[in-house]
Amino acid sequence: MSFARWLALLVLLLASVPGQALAQSAGQPLTVHFFDVGQGDAALIISPTGKTVLIDSGPPDARHRLEQRLRELVKEPLDLAILTHPHLDHLGGMSTALRSVGARRFMDPGFDHPSEAYRDLLNVVGDEVGQVMTPVPNPQDPRSLVTIGLGDGAALTVLWPRVPEDPFLTGTRSDPNSNSIVAKLTYGKTAFLFTGDAEPDTEATLLRKPIDLTSTVLKVAHHGGRHSSTADFLAAVKPQAAVISVGAKNDYGHPTSAVLERLRAVKATVFRTDQDGEVVATSDGNVVSLRAEKRGGASELVPGGVKPGSVALGPITRGTRRTSTPRGRGAASAPAEAPGTDSTQRDTDAPRYFSLKGSKVFHKESCRTLKRSKSDRTAYSSRAEAMRERRPAEDCHP
Ligand SMILES: [Zn+2]
Ligand SMILES: [Zn+2]
Repeated sequence: MSFARWLALLVLLLASVPGQALAQSAGQPLTVHFFDVGQGDAALIISPTGKTVLIDSGPPDARHRLEQRLRELVKEPLDLAILTHPHLDHLGGMSTALRSVGARRFMDPGFDHPSEAYRDLLNVVGDEVGQVMTPVPNPQDPRSLVTIGLGDGAALTVLWPRVPEDPFLTGTRSDPNSNSIVAKLTYGKTAFLFTGDAEPDTEATLLRKPIDLTSTVLKVAHHGGRHSSTADFLAAVKPQAAVISVGAKNDYGHPTSAVLERLRAVKATVFRTDQDGEVVATSDGNVVSLRAEKRGGASELVPGGVKPGSVALGPITRGTRRTSTPRGRGAASAPAEAPGTDSTQRDTDAPRYFSLKGSKVFHKESCRTLKRSKSDRTAYSSRAEAMRERRPAEDCHP
């Protein structure tokens, strides 16, 4: 796609559109729904002027639930549908959503992913969506960040990826995860940070840039997986509330106790869709109120506390991929960050490993997730054997 087309598209998005949506819902606060889609992510932004942005679409088995919620909340095609990255727990309901409620624009990182599900989705996007975009900065000003105006001062700024100014991250724990779209939604003194399944490499890259990451509400990366949400990243984001989109009794061990601990350390109020159901955050520009489907009528109020217009647009320095350098604050964040360090325990005493039916991960024999599940399991006599077919689970770190 040509740069000229990107440019035209951005100008179009940035222009305020005083159309029907505005007339219908002027004066409304900004609302973000973090849907309960089980093990996956799906969130809907409804801007003060009624513009709608869907960020991810949950796993395939939640697609009808998502479709139903979208039909209840969205009366016109989505203004923008974002796929943070092409994994199935984010992509699973997108085709259904696009066919059912429609979308004017679709954005994904543009990171190549050879899966059938992703290919099929791109075909649906081609049929159903007017414009397809990736977060390529304005070629006239390649160091700037792509910002999408949502009306009444609300804006969504894409912080990552930044191709071609910065190349995609490669050789990471998971390159599709590492190149997740990370976007900051700002409204008045409040901000929301959406991280997809960002990895420590993504976080480190963002931390090197002169970007204000401070956010009132953080959508926790990778369902609370232990590698992401490093102490350094959380120290920069300073979230007052954190939402973990995660399935009950998932066999990945999400959210991990390590991440819950790090969130506690920065005093973020934690919401989890597995326990709280759908979480709805409403911002009037000064405070964000959060309520959850399964917490009764209780509403948690958190002050905004971030500077207005809070995404700094300073010069972006070209990043180089790092492996794992602690950022000068001692040992606190170092061990969890190093990619691949969880494979240091070798199978010298030949422990047995198991995976649960339908799962992509394997566990130690002693793992409580394994004990809790009644699913059929496959046994592996060595770690190496298990590694050939599955990934290590994040709860027991086999
Ligand atoms: Zn992922
Ligand atoms: Zn995910």
